[in-house]
Amino acid sequence: MATEQRLEVHDPRTLLVASQLLDACRGPREMAQEVVAAVERNAAWRGRQCLNLLAPEAPTSPTVRALLSAEIGTRAAEGHIGAVNRWFAGTRYIDEVEALCMELLKRALRADYADHRLCASMIGNLAVYTALTQPGDTIMSAPQPMGGHSSNRPDGPAGVRGLRIVDIPFTPELEVDLAAFRLVAERERPRLVTLGMSMTLFPLPCKEMSEILAPWGGRLFFDGAHQLGLIAGGQFQDPLREGACVLTGSAGKTWSGPQSGIMAWNAPELTEPLTHAVFPVLAATHQVNRVAALAVSAAEMLAFGPVYMAQIVSNAQALGAALQRRGVPVVGARRGFTRTHQVIADVSAFGGGLDAAHLLARANVITNKNLIPGDTPEQWDRPSGLRIGTIEVTRLGMRGADMETIAGFMARVLVEQEPVERVLADVVDFRGRFQEIYYCFENGLPREA
Ligand SMILES: *Cc1c(COP(=O)(O)O)cnc(C)c1O
Repeated sequence: MATEQRLEVHDPRTLLVASQLLDACRGPREMAQEVVAAVERNAAWRGRQCLNLLAPEAPTSPTVRALLSAEIGTRAAEGHIGAVNRWFAGTRYIDEVEALCMELLKRALRADYADHRLCASMIGNLAVYTALTQPGDTIMSAPQPMGGHSSNRPDGPAGVRGLRIVDIPFTPELEVDLAAFRLVAERERPRLVTLGMSMTLFPLPCKEMSEILAPWGGRLFFDGAHQLGLIAGGQFQDPLREGACVLTGSAGKTWSGPQSGIMAWNAPELTEPLTHAVFPVLAATHQVNRVAALAVSAAEMLAFGPVYMAQIVSNAQALGAALQRRGVPVVGARRGFTRTHQVIADVSAFGGGLDAAHLLARANVITNKNLIPGDTPEQWDRPSGLRIGTIEVTRLGMRGADMETIAGFMARVLVEQEPVERVLADVVDFRGRFQEIYYCFENGLPREA
């Protein structure tokens, strides 16, 4: 197809199949049924038969899931909490739900201030850039091959804000190179330094970095999209107590709530700019059903966070060790594999990340390709690594011995090159034994093995 005829960035073949499906329907009612059927196919497959090891995914509790379709989600409620702050009348109970959510978020994150209106963590990052920078300012952030995320790079919100972005230097072992950072930071005097890692194995030197920035009033911003639940559960570093002035994070990653964003901070002088950047700048209607679900997920975090998050980390460590033992090299092996929910495997010997991820998916083991140190940014489509996360398998009640089983499935596909159909049958059988969600008020803790 000639370039000038291509109108879609999306896969044209997938769109064509959808269009043909709609053409075959006898009317809009059948079209709606096709949508529902596709959702049900996903629930039957990904929801019941797959080992979902995507690091940014988490299953939600029955109450959280039910609240996402609650009546309150049909109500208009833009603005700040309180009758005079809103445009609309009739928000009495909406204010109550939102205030409960905000107070629960503060407790779960041990912070003085929080915002609950971010429909995505990426929007939270744009709110931080809106509040704390001016176009043309210099910031520093982590490049993608070292685990950085587009939201803090030229191709995301930081770029949209017109910021000049300088790389935080990393060592080949994925650690911030503090000596090199000091040199670059003292030369560039960035207004803000963002620590935001989509590939995240070990704590970051927040304290040391914030001290380097202090002489010119530079600030540290921790984008904890991935680690937010670990932070709340006390199983990771605590950025707001280690020099970061603001913390953002995804509610749908380790936090295990409804997909959306959270922002928290402690300094009163940041309250006005950050809150103003949320409304009226970036969020109007903010999905009050989602806010209610977020509030319950924060209560779950208070009740189960420490034990749930500790099990996520110990499962990741067990999975890393088990993969390494079976001949799949794991990044960070020398340092104990990981202190988060993630395991990063180097699968360059097994066809690279793209092919490995798709081969594993045929056996119902869902992971994603990932750039790893040594890859170039241009290799984004065919990187050497595989990112594996333990959030969902943990919430389904799995423990260390089950990580051995999962590593065994992966090695049978990648190392032993067994026919995927045989592994698939065993994966479906194994997953069939884990269908309940734990670390929630409905089901409590998983039974001891
Ligand atoms: C996932 C991620 C985000 C975006 O989070 P969403 O809630 O999906 O918008 C931002 N920053 C980092 C480092 C991430 O990994």
